[in-house]
This record gives sequence, structure tokens and C-alpha cells, in this order.
Amino acid sequence: MSHSSPIQRIVIVGGGTAGWMAAAALAHAFSGSGRSVSLVESEAIGIIGVGEATIPEILKFNARLGIDEADFLRETKATFKLGIEFDGWRRDGERYFHPFGGFGLDMEGIAFHHFWLKACAEGRAEPLETYSMAWQAAKRNRFAHPQGGPQSPLSTLGYAYHFDAALYAGFLRRFAEGLGVVRHEGRVVDVQQAADGDVSGVKLEDGRVVGGDFFIDCTGFVGLLIEQALKAGYDDWSAWLPCDSAVAVPCERDGPLSPYTRSTAREAGWQWRIPLQHRVGNGYVYSSNHVSHQDAEDALMSRLEGAALAEPRRLRFATGRRRECWKRNCVAVGLSSGFLEPLESTSIHLIQSAITKLINLFPARSSDDGLRRQFNALMEEEFVTVRDFLILHYKLNERGGAFWDQVRAMPIPDRLIEKIALFQETGRIVRRDHDIFAESSWLAVAIGQGLVPSGRHPISDVLTPEENFGRLAAIRDSIRRTADALPGHEDVMSASVSRRRA
Ligand SMILES: Cc1cc2nc3c(=O)[nH]c(=O)nc-3n(C[C@H](O)[C@H](O)[C@H](O)COP(=O)(O)OP(=O)(O)OC[C@H]3O[C@@H](n4cnc5c(N)ncnc54)[C@H](O)[C@@H]3O)c2cc1C
Repeated sequence: MSHSSPIQRIVIVGGGTAGWMAAAALAHAFSGSGRSVSLVESEAIGIIGVGEATIPEILKFNARLGIDEADFLRETKATFKLGIEFDGWRRDGERYFHPFGGFGLDMEGIAFHHFWLKACAEGRAEPLETYSMAWQAAKRNRFAHPQGGPQSPLSTLGYAYHFDAALYAGFLRRFAEGLGVVRHEGRVVDVQQAADGDVSGVKLEDGRVVGGDFFIDCTGFVGLLIEQALKAGYDDWSAWLPCDSAVAVPCERDGPLSPYTRSTAREAGWQWRIPLQHRVGNGYVYSSNHVSHQDAEDALMSRLEGAALAEPRRLRFATGRRRECWKRNCVAVGLSSGFLEPLESTSIHLIQSAITKLINLFPARSSDDGLRRQFNALMEEEFVTVRDFLILHYKLNERGGAFWDQVRAMPIPDRLIEKIALFQETGRIVRRDHDIFAESSWLAVAIGQGLVPSGRHPISDVLTPEENFGRLAAIRDSIRRTADALPGHEDVMSASVSRRRA
């Protein structure tokens, strides 16, 4: 196909979370435009099947597709997520919470935390999460949808979901097929390229060829098109994020349905706990240079809260990003575009973000260099900001042990050094363009890891210490009262799941 040919046939290769999210969104976006969307996947190869915690942006993805929340919750056995509890990340026995939604109430035109820092300096502040609506609800196992005006504590809530990855792929598959996406079952054995190097089709084991004008590589870590065929290259970031393995296993739940993810620091990495309606997802993400695979598996299995519901699964990965996510007439989405460990549940968001950018920048013709360069630059910026946010968690630890000593001592990227220094000296966090995480997220982790700034915004001096203390106390009390009156997470779940579309 020449570069001047219009794109009529979009082919997605791979049917995991990335493949079916791409299929649903592209079919929805191009509906009625005369373009076809097809998807090739291999049941024999299967999907990675982990990836169950998300961030609030997922709500926008569902909303754009017109997905009803009750249908989604019911079919993916999802629960609500108000944030992540970090247990032992600074030191054993200490916890902090990264909430969705902000802290307190902005006052006098500046962020709340400057007034909190003023109270800290006077020895009169309570822990930062005391002023988080999300945490006050989460620790009581309560939940409500955000609501009310800017003065209402519930307006500061943000939320996302935990869901079953396999059910989510199936849910999106039904949605996409309902929009006309054609699915081809079979293992791809060859990627066919035209004389100019563009991908022209994929050949299946049984000899069939699925031809197309534009390809989305959703084949997971293998990167069948983007790397095996097009050699887009990979930036390895394991010097900063040395975890290279995980072992995952679901188990029975013991206790109430908590509306948050838990991340517990372990000897050579960390363990996740993701509560779903029907089970709890668990995994140990670790550095294989610091613990053997067998010891990691044994450690995970010995720490489950209930009976295991399947055999443990081991996974290997190389942290980093594809140097060119879009090369020629092929765009990598999902694990084929790179991988950052699931510490802040960002992979599914990076899928969503790539799809949104691709739809905005979708070329009329096969290869448009300007659009491609823009897409690649935007994706690089997004990967880098997530990378730096993850590194922050490790760099600031005060734990003991070879793994934690290594990540505390490691050199970090210059832009993160600057960010930490600015915060330490001035209390300021400047959000970069395309940073997924708001100021309050960086704040939660920096403070939680023990980095309390020496400076703060001078406008915080407009309040006397007494006035400041009074306002903080009023905010704290209002959040507590609101949290005490919220319904239980499990009750909201049951009511939501049984609600039918009007
Ligand atoms: C340990 C771990 C925990 C994670 N936790 C989270 C989390 O909590 N939150 C989050 O957002 N993300 C998480 N992720 C990331 C998340 O799992 C992935 O981003 C998501 O599942 C998308 O995967 P994918 O669709 O790109 O790849 P896959 O699920 O691997 O799908 C690849 C698809 O390509 C197909 N395929 C491959 N080769 C061929 C071939 N030759 N022929 C035909 N088909 C082929 C496969 O059959 C499959 O359909 C986690 C990842 C890991 C490793």
C-alpha cells in the first residue's frame, strides 16, 4: 500500500485488555465512517490475566463508550477503589494512604497542604490522611459516589475500580462485537510487510491472511509487530525499577470488602491485595536478584488471608518503554508498548491514554510522520512521568535489607531530583503536562515516605496559628462526620449491581 492510500481496514492483533479496549474504542469512534475494525487473537496463547486495579480516569473511558456502571460492575465482578494503602513502605509498621481526590480544602487561593505544613511546624497537625475524605471513607470500609458542591467533603472524593481482568476482556469483547468488530481466532505465525516496510497483513497458523491498512499491536510483552517485525527498540529502565518478576494468586476473602488496594513492602519488593466481589487478587512483585522465584512464591502463599483459589502464576518482565510506540503503520498499545510495575495501577490507564491519543491523531492515510512524531512524544512524556512517580516510592524508603538499600542509594533521573528538591525547600509540586498524577498524589507519597518540606507558601501566613488550627479542625470534623454517615462499601456494591438500566 502506498502512503497516499486512505485507511479503510484497521487490524488489532491481540485480544487481552489492550486489544479489546482498543477494539471497543475504535469501533465506537469510527462507527458509521465506513472503516472496518477486526481483531486477531489466539485462545491457545491466552492473555496475561492480571491487571485488576485502575485509577479514576477509567470512568472517562467507560463514559465515552456509554457503558452503564451497574452493567460493568455486575459483569466484571468489580469493586470500588478509593486509593492505595502503602504498608511498611517507609518503615515496617508505618502506613500511609494515596487517596483518589485531594486533601482538605484549598484556602486563600493556595493548596491545603501549605496550611497543614504551617500547623506541622507548630506541632499541631494530625497525619495528612486525617484530612482526606477518601481515606476516612476507606478505613471505615464505606463508600459513596462523589457529590455536592465544592464545600462538600464528598465533592473531593475520587474513585476507580478493581475488576476481574478476564471478565473485563470478555465484557469489552461483547461490546466491541456488538459494534461490528470481526474477531479472527488463530495464532499469528508471520507478519507480512509491503516493499516500503509497512505491515500489510498477518498470516495465521492455518494459512489464512488477515490484511489491513493500519495495525494496532496488542500482542503483549512479545511485541509481535512493533518489535519482532518493525524493530522499534526498547529503553530498559530496570536500573531505576529493579523488580523484574511477579507471582500472582487469587484467594478467598477474610473480612469486610475494603474499597482500596493494599501494597505491602516485602523483603525484595512488594505484595498487592486487590479485593473483588468473588475473590481477592494477590501478587508479589520482586527483584529476582534479591529473592529466588521459589522463595518469592513460598512467601506469597504463606501470607494469603484465605484459601488459594488457583495455582500461583509466575510472570517475568523488563521494565521500560518501546522507543517508538508508533512505527510505520503500526501502533503498540498495552504491554507491547512498555511496562511499568503495577505499584500505582497505571498500565490500563496507559492503554486508555494511548487509545485516546491515537483516536485524536488518527491519520487519514497510512503513514503520517507529523502525527506519528506527536503521538510518540506524548507517550514518551507520559511513561516518563509515571516512571518518576514510581521511583519516588522506592527512593525515599528507610527500610533495611539489600533490596531496599539498593533502591535508596540508586542515582535517580535529573527531573525527579529537581522535583524532590523543589518540594523539600518550598513545599511546591509543579504538575507537568501529561502527568497522570495530580499534585495531591505526589504529596501523599512524598509525605507518606517521610519527606516533610522545610518551606511552604508565604500566603499561609495570612492566618494566625489559632485561625489556622481552627480551620483545620473544622475540616477534619466535617470529613469525619461525613465518613461516619456513609453507607458500607458492600451495601453500595450490592445496590449498584442489582440496579437495572432504566
Ligand atoms: C504482575 C502484573 C500485575 C499487573 N497489575 C496491574 C494492575 O493492577 N493495574 C493495571 O492497570 N495493570 C496491571 N498490569 C498490566 C496489565 O496486566 C496489562 O497492561 C493488561 O493486561 C494489558 O495486557 P495486554 O492486553 O497488552 O497483553 P496480554 O494480556 O498478554 O494480551 C496479549 C494478546 O495477544 C495475543 N497474542 C500474542 N501473541 C499472539 C500470536 N502469535 N498470535 C495471535 N495472538 C497473539 C494473546 O493471545 C492475547 O490475546 C499488571 C501486569 C503484571 C505483569
